[in-house]
Amino acid sequence: MSRLNVMMPFLGEEEIAAVSEVISSGWVAQGPRVAAFEQAFAQAMEADHALAVSSCTTGLHLALVVAGIGVDDEVVVPSFSFIATSNAVRYVGATPVFADVDQQTGNLTADTVAAVITKRTRAVIVVDQGGVPVDLDSVRSLCDPRGITVVEDAACGAGSTYHGRPVGAGAEITAWSFHPRKIITTGEGGMITTSREDWASRARRLREHAMSVSAADRHSAVLAPAESYLEVGYNFRMTDLQASVGLVQLNRLPEIVRRRRELAAAYQKQISDVTGLRTVADPTWGTCNYQSFWTEVTPAYPLSRDDVLSRLASADVSARRGIMSTHSQPPYASVPATLPVTERLTANTLILPLFHQMTEDDQARVIDVLVDGARS
Ligand SMILES: *Cc1c(COP(=O)(O)O)cnc(C)c1O
Repeated sequence: MSRLNVMMPFLGEEEIAAVSEVISSGWVAQGPRVAAFEQAFAQAMEADHALAVSSCTTGLHLALVVAGIGVDDEVVVPSFSFIATSNAVRYVGATPVFADVDQQTGNLTADTVAAVITKRTRAVIVVDQGGVPVDLDSVRSLCDPRGITVVEDAACGAGSTYHGRPVGAGAEITAWSFHPRKIITTGEGGMITTSREDWASRARRLREHAMSVSAADRHSAVLAPAESYLEVGYNFRMTDLQASVGLVQLNRLPEIVRRRRELAAAYQKQISDVTGLRTVADPTWGTCNYQSFWTEVTPAYPLSRDDVLSRLASADVSARRGIMSTHSQPPYASVPATLPVTERLTANTLILPLFHQMTEDDQARVIDVLVDGARS
């Protein structure tokens, strides 16, 4: 029996051909493929503007910069997220304030955000955790009248929907990830989508050193126009090598999500018969891409979460502890945090293998361990 991974990217001959073509063209840095990927991504996500960046982390950083967030500002974030969500707040010198999450979705809600808002709150970063769509409208109803910007961290969210539209479509600004652990991949990479033209054009400049003329435009001219640097920018560019892969991956997205939802439904059906286990599910307002299929091991189950993980490991099944809590990590240990749901989910959830190429037999191996465990 071979090792069953928790996640595998779905890549094939078309990605190899696309990269080969870029190498043959001689233009490997940010250029026409990045522009084409941005356009295709904006269309797929129903966004007005899209600009590619080097990762979701740099995308979140730029989103906060263009939203004008800085020193003296508080930004509400879930501790229940990958640490990059909070790190982006620190990069701009602002103060992260942790809000708890809803136990059904693992996401912030208007109530948990309202509980920690102060006069200094200038932004909230909501996360579509594990691909579960956040109830964005309720958070925006709270924040918009108070002049608080809502940034959506949709690192895990490509292919999930909210009220029938792609997640992120209803946010002023959204950041996406193309890391291989996410739903589609470019190796490393990210995207910002936004409804605001002014934010899009500033972020577009900032991602390449705040140059007034893009490198692509300068290099395609015989006599390059003189450029100027109007503020301190960054090198957060994506390459055409990555974008060529992204274009193929974006075409695969509907098929990837369809297969993941099929596998998730099979897990949900079979695990619902096991007393003491609770699985992630679609909320009433949308559909999940099931980027992370998490399961809570409740006290009604005879084994602890860590026992389940080691039994899975004995069957050569690589599962993972659930979503981390940022407030338990050293850089955030001094941030005040009363987060009972976050702590419960972090301690008691695990992420089961789920990827496009997974077979029914693979899934049966996972289910067998969970069913056996219930009898112990
Ligand atoms: C993975 C992830 C990130 C970071 O994405 P990168 O592209 O690796 O920088 C940020 N936020 C969340 C919620 C994530 O899951």
